[in-house]
Amino acid sequence: MKILEWCCRAYELTLTWNFSRTGYDAVFLDRQLILEVLYRQVKDKSKILTSKRVSHVDHTAQGVTVKCTDDTSYEGDIVVGADGVFSVVRQEMWRAADREEPGLIPDEEKHHMKSEYQILYGISSATPGLTAGHYDVTYMKDVSSMTVIGKNDTVFWFLFSRMDRVYKFGEIPRYTKQDAEAFAERHLDINLQPNVKFGDVWKNRKYSTLVATEEADYKHWTWGRFACLGDSVHKYGSGCHELTGLD
Ligand SMILES: Cc1cc2nc3c(=O)[nH]c(=O)nc-3n(C[C@H](O)[C@H](O)[C@H](O)COP(=O)(O)OP(=O)(O)OC[C@H]3O[C@@H](n4cnc5c(N)ncnc54)[C@H](O)[C@@H]3O)c2cc1C
Repeated sequence: MKILEWCCRAYELTLTWNFSRTGYDAVFLDRQLILEVLYRQVKDKSKILTSKRVSHVDHTAQGVTVKCTDDTSYEGDIVVGADGVFSVVRQEMWRAADREEPGLIPDEEKHHMKSEYQILYGISSATPGLTAGHYDVTYMKDVSSMTVIGKNDTVFWFLFSRMDRVYKFGEIPRYTKQDAEAFAERHLDINLQPNVKFGDVWKNRKYSTLVATEEADYKHWTWGRFACLGDSVHKYGSGCHELTGLD
């Protein structure tokens, strides 16, 4: 018990921090549900084309042509890329800028992405001791955890850990299911609450995955007729604020 007190600081918070500003509490829910809600609000659903992969963007003074891997193409005035960390639109923006304004976007910016932390995250079914609306954080040496309990006591959980070194763009590790299981097995004894251990939540998992979290804040978010949004230009190390308690 003494060791536990020494190395573990646990905080129990509730998801009510938003209420005074917005009139709503914060909620945690599956990403698919958010997409479903947003999709339902789109009036003209013919504008949404799924299973398309952008491969090239041709940029001219008059407009853009977006080409897809299925040989279809689309013309427009501008192209907005919200295509994530490995954004093709961002790369096509760099390619067009290099051609028309060489040197404007330096090579260092293109290799700026790095990764220092890994996260095992998942969703588990209701686990005794964890109730909806609670948000728990535990700081241990070299690893910290965050659990957020949503509707029906669904447990959204995260284990954060610093990797052995900082990995640069092109060498950021990818993990298998076995890596994820081995990582979890090393941390089953972490207390999420005085009477709830990570192992209890791990046993009830419905989904889990281990990732290295990329970090990058690119200087150029737009150029010409290109604009990039979200992780494609500003990727923060998700949840790494929870690591501030690590040595
Ligand atoms: C473990 C973890 C936990 C997180 N938890 C939270 C959280 O609690 N709250 C929060 O706000 N954020 C969280 N984040 C961060 C959040 O997931 C991202 O910031 C967010 O998803 C970024 O959205 P995005 O649309 O920019 O990119 P993404 O969500 O990565 O979406 C990019 C989309 O573009 C598509 N795409 C990629 N390439 C192409 C292509 N060539 N052509 C067409 N489409 C393409 C992909 O299929 C994908 O659908 C978390 C991230 C991680 C890793």
